[in-house]
Amino acid sequence: MPDCELLDQCGFFKKYKDTKKLACSGFIKQYCKGPLQAQCMRKAYRQEHGKPPSDDMMPPGGMVSA
Ligand code: SF4
Repeated sequence: MPDCELLDQCGFFKKYKDTKKLACSGFIKQYCKGPLQAQCMRKAYRQEHGKPPSDDMMPPGGMVSA
C-alpha cells in the first residue's frame, strides 16, 4: 500500500515521524503508512474546513497529550 498522499504536507506526520511516543508511532504505521489512511480524521477535518487541523490532532481524532 502506498503512503498517504498528504504525507509530505501533513503537520502531524512532520512533527511526530521520529517521535518516541508509542501512540503516535503506532498511528503513523496504521494510518500514514498503513491500511487506515482513508479513515484519517485529519483528512476529514481538512475536507470539512478547507485547512489542516492542529499538528497535534491525531489520525483517529483527539489531541496528543504532552
Ligand atoms: S495523519 Fe492522516 S493526513 Fe496526515 S499523513 Fe497520516 S494519514 Fe495522512
